Amino acid sequence: MDSSEFRECAKATVDLLINYIDNIRDRNVLPSVEPGYLMKMLPENAPEEPEDWKTLLKDFNEVVMPGMTNWQSPYFHAYFPTGSSYASIIGNLLSDGLGIVGFTWMASPACTELEVVTMNWLGKLLGLPEEFLNCSAGPGGGVIQGSASEATLVALLAAKDKKIRKLKELDPELDECITKTKFVAYTSEQCNSSVEKAGVLGSMKMRLLKSDQNGRLRGETLKQAFEEDEAQGLIPCYVVANLGTTGICSFDPLSELGPICQNKNVWLHVDAAYAGAAFICPEYRYLMKGIEYVDSFDVNAHKWLLVNFDCSAMWVKDGYDLINAFDVQRIYLDDVNATVKIPDYRHWQMPLGRRFRSLKLWSVLKMYGASGLRNFIREQISLAQYFAKLAQSDNRFIVEPEPSMGLVCFRLEKGDKITKQLLKNLTDKKQVFMVACTYRGRYVIRFVVCSQYTTKDDVEISWNVIKNEANQLYQKEIN
Ligand code: PLP
Repeated sequence: MDSSEFRECAKATVDLLINYIDNIRDRNVLPSVEPGYLMKMLPENAPEEPEDWKTLLKDFNEVVMPGMTNWQSPYFHAYFPTGSSYASIIGNLLSDGLGIVGFTWMASPACTELEVVTMNWLGKLLGLPEEFLNCSAGPGGGVIQGSASEATLVALLAAKDKKIRKLKELDPELDECITKTKFVAYTSEQCNSSVEKAGVLGSMKMRLLKSDQNGRLRGETLKQAFEEDEAQGLIPCYVVANLGTTGICSFDPLSELGPICQNKNVWLHVDAAYAGAAFICPEYRYLMKGIEYVDSFDVNAHKWLLVNFDCSAMWVKDGYDLINAFDVQRIYLDDVNATVKIPDYRHWQMPLGRRFRSLKLWSVLKMYGASGLRNFIREQISLAQYFAKLAQSDNRFIVEPEPSMGLVCFRLEKGDKITKQLLKNLTDKKQVFMVACTYRGRYVIRFVVCSQYTTKDDVEISWNVIKNEANQLYQKEIN
């Protein structure tokens, strides 16, 4: 493809995507395809001769589009949102157009420094303590990871390294390998699967502690777990607090967990993948009370801040904890500037290579502005509250627990079996998409306002689809 073909093709692609978004309400959320559908449609081998871009877009429409789950549909209410906006797409396009890799400052000064600046901007918008910011006097700073999963694992590995260094200061003869097998990580049973997986990947036993009636990991539970393990010669090393759990969006009290971790020199990481975005609105910051005790904090800008995947914003109070853990030297990398203030980000992450992800964060922050992002978050929460009101007005539906952020959990008063059937029927019909979780042992359906395009009318449409399905189920029960 030469430049003039690129110009033509890029214009056609932009038109295609705009049409997709403008007409997204005309599509079902879920596709009507069977497993293996696409593999059957494409040849077994890559084409021997080049094909032109028109063929590519034609195949895209005929082969790819029918198999799409439409995450940006206003009737997509599953999981949590995945961010997307035209501003972010522009940032991505610029990044791809430059085609660089920014593992050290030297490899791309702009890539490194724009990340420093945008992470300072975002950290300030969220109301994080100064210590987390690169612009503070201390060694704190932000880095963009690919996912919250990576951030949890990076923090676990850094915690492990920091703990072993501390123990070796006390006992230089210490056997590192044996000691590491005694390290224990803790989180709540409500944690995202990725938190448990970080324990698997990082070879650290991860205890999933019981949460209270409201899905919160309490200080007393954590303290007791530390004591039990210490009594057996184990060493508490890492705690993941969840601000906005995936199931019911509950918030662990950092002000209870923080002092316990501090007392035992245990690294405290916060997984605020979804709900952390709401801290750009000052009225929600009470939910991160105790943040000053935290060693690392992560929020997915690619979830609820309109930035396209992947852009997970992670801050640490001490960047040297990461540098010490991950610094592996080679002459060809020659990163003379490995300080916290002008970071060589290869030491802050797992891979060597890294994309220019801050461009899309920058585009969104600039083109929405802080006020635009706050309005967006507040509007999404008010739409969730509207849905809750509609469900509460029908006495067959129970809304429980209290809606949290953009999430509303509900069930049918007749029990788990019929609630499960309701979700199954809705999924089969493909018009709205939701997933389930459990709350206090009951099966509940999660309704999340996910798409930035969702309006009050859309919420009513989704509600009517749900209500009509419930009508049919109740009718069947009578017959
Ligand atoms: N943590 C929470 C609370 C989540 O809800 C999710 C995903 O939904 C994750 C972590 C994982 O995020 P990622 O896909 O960025 O790893």
